[in-house]
Amino acid sequence: SFVSVPARLRAAATAFPDRMAVCDEQSSLTYHQLREATGAAADKLARAGVIQGDVVAICAFNSVSYVIAYLGAVGMGAVVAPLPQSATADSLARMIGDCAARIVLVDEGAASMLANCELPAPLASLTDIADPAGVLPEGRMFEWAEIASSDRFNIIYSSGTTGTPKGIVQSHAMREAHVQLGEACGYYPGCVTLFSTPLYSNTTLISLLPTLALGGTAILMRKFGAEAFLTLAEEQRVTHAMLVPIQYQRLMASEGFDTHDLSSFREKFCTSAPFPPELKRAILKRWPGGLTEYYGMTEGGGLCILRAHAHPDKLHTVGRPAPGTDMRIIDEEGVELAAGEVGEIVGISENFMQGYHNRPRTTEEAIWAAPDGGRFMRTGDIGKFDEDGFLTLMDRKKDVIISGGFNIYPSDLEEVLRTHPHVEDAAVVGIPSTQWGETPVAFIVGPQASPVEVLEYANQRVGKSQRLADLRIVDQLPRSQIGKILKRELRASCEEDSA
Ligand code: ATP
Ligand code: MG
Repeated sequence: SFVSVPARLRAAATAFPDRMAVCDEQSSLTYHQLREATGAAADKLARAGVIQGDVVAICAFNSVSYVIAYLGAVGMGAVVAPLPQSATADSLARMIGDCAARIVLVDEGAASMLANCELPAPLASLTDIADPAGVLPEGRMFEWAEIASSDRFNIIYSSGTTGTPKGIVQSHAMREAHVQLGEACGYYPGCVTLFSTPLYSNTTLISLLPTLALGGTAILMRKFGAEAFLTLAEEQRVTHAMLVPIQYQRLMASEGFDTHDLSSFREKFCTSAPFPPELKRAILKRWPGGLTEYYGMTEGGGLCILRAHAHPDKLHTVGRPAPGTDMRIIDEEGVELAAGEVGEIVGISENFMQGYHNRPRTTEEAIWAAPDGGRFMRTGDIGKFDEDGFLTLMDRKKDVIISGGFNIYPSDLEEVLRTHPHVEDAAVVGIPSTQWGETPVAFIVGPQASPVEVLEYANQRVGKSQRLADLRIVDQLPRSQIGKILKRELRASCEEDSA
């Protein structure tokens, strides 16, 4: 029979009642206390009118209360919609309406942001509902829900890196698959995982759920900072962390990196954005423990894993499909391509969303139906498999530049730019050109760099049809809260200039 994540958590509380389950700057809970607090939160949600199948939205910074509310809600069979606190009030209101939330749990920041909004659901204080010291009132029992594998666990709004956020519906089965994947990748009972990415993101959940479901300890940071991260990691003898590439970049560049004892690390994880091979190499050299990269999407479907420590010759790839995952490459017409050929990546696995919430058409459009009947998720990413079955990721389809009939992959140019000693970061986008249709423009971070010199350096090293039309130096690249470069903002800044 199906073992759900909430059932695993209750089992962990029986097996390791006194082990620390989760902590933040203010509170720290053992597994026993977490079960008590979670039960109390579920009871309060029920008294607020939430029933099995209802949606509970949460908009808050990372905290122990956030974890309690999340687990309490899914334990009672409700569906969590974790909302990005970085979004505008209008966009949050739209999401709250779209997911038909029964209640919205907020911290102080979100409460004041949403105070003047017309909302279709009532706001409630996150810490009132999910009190870390919460226990059920004397004599009261809380009945946990019977959960089926197809029940909804959460609705996560896509990052909106390329367009409007879409609600991605994930089932308990998909979450259980994430726990099993985590176990296969090295999470274990007693692991100590440090979290510095926001809890609303799938990136965080795919690491939090295996940590807690297997009986590990989750340490939450409210906000990432390199020095704070390194200090906590050393003090708490941290064994695992999930970080995005820009965080690794900041950690490796931080002055204090080599002064901290990081020998407790067993495994580090990375996902969500391009992870430069030279950065992976530096981490392997200077930071103890393994390094595992995931390539995937909140939607699920395709998933590749690179155990970087085991494949130092494959650092330019995102690894091989995970067990139980079938991935293919298709062309514009939807015809499957052979190994070595470049096209759109599609994938199928147990890690598959139920669909986009309220968007059956968009859900259907995201599926590639294989001639043999399989329904694959279209990733919107371009790549190719090598002869050993490792996937090289090139770019998002929407970012590929078509110039004079040639496809230019921004990632090729970015790689060349990053080899220049004065270039710290680089992004290339296409802008409209009357002569070529589109033409590539580079944005680099590099206070010491000379734009003319770097432009010449790059153009000497790329093919004639790939040459950059322009190069600009910026203080930093625009990024989403989870660290993805927002290329649409770079393109928009070019349009403003020419207008
Ligand atoms: P939206 O779909 O709203 O535009 P998004 O695609 O950024 O947002 P996510 O599901 O968080 O939302 O991200 C999945 C995407 O992130 C992938 O399609 C891929 O482009 C990128 N990605 C994920 N893992 C990696 C990785 N290891 N290396 C490079 N890119 C990655
Ligand atoms: Mg996407």
